[in-house]
Amino acid sequence: MKLATLFLLAPFATLAQSKPGPLLPPADPRIQKLVDEISAKNLEADIRKLVSFGTRHTLSDTQSPTRGIGASRNWVRDEFLKYSKAGGGRMTVEMDTFTVKPDGRRINKPVLMANVLATLPGTDPSDTRVILVSGHIDSRVSDVMNATADAPGANDDGSGTVLVMELARVLAGQKFPCTLKFVAVQGEEQGLYGSGHLAERAKRRLEPDCDAQQRHRGQLARLRPGHQRRQAPARVQRRRTGQ
Ligand SMILES: [Zn+2]
Repeated sequence: MKLATLFLLAPFATLAQSKPGPLLPPADPRIQKLVDEISAKNLEADIRKLVSFGTRHTLSDTQSPTRGIGASRNWVRDEFLKYSKAGGGRMTVEMDTFTVKPDGRRINKPVLMANVLATLPGTDPSDTRVILVSGHIDSRVSDVMNATADAPGANDDGSGTVLVMELARVLAGQKFPCTLKFVAVQGEEQGLYGSGHLAERAKRRLEPDCDAQQRHRGQLARLRPGHQRRQAPARVQRRRTGQ
């Protein structure tokens, strides 16, 4: 081997011999244990259950025990209650109802909507943080006003809803200094009504998750063209159109 070649190879040899430094902090065994408890089997079974309600359209049936938005949100509530019981009962569960009036667009009659909400209170009274994770339970077909056709919504947003559920299941028995909220919101496909209600509620109670929710709504509207974005105030529109 020629001397020049030896010189060229030298830096690589040094690199190969040096020990790589730790790139990540060591895994926290408590977190690792929780992560290991997330079950792909549960996630799939929960999505299949959500799909079995046929449609979860916001304007769909609320009386049937097996089909429509009413049956599906009752099921999520009952699951949350099971997780709470298994976790020692610290997690509270509620149907946060609110009425939306006809809006001349995607709501054609007064609708009683409900966000299914589970709250795991923080253990430190001086910790005012609220960490919130949400998915939307409602689904629809291309015709946004069709409340009877099958709308399985397995990915949009059944997958988000079951993720919220699985996190609630795994974390219900845990204790954290700050408060955690798990929410299946409704009315998203009709105009982001559920998360809007959640944000308003947070604002009213001066909960610190208000800004995050509003940002989340903005992100959703930007990231998912299928979602309807609420009309901006006239002043903002004028600015956008240069009028
Ligand atoms: Zn969606």
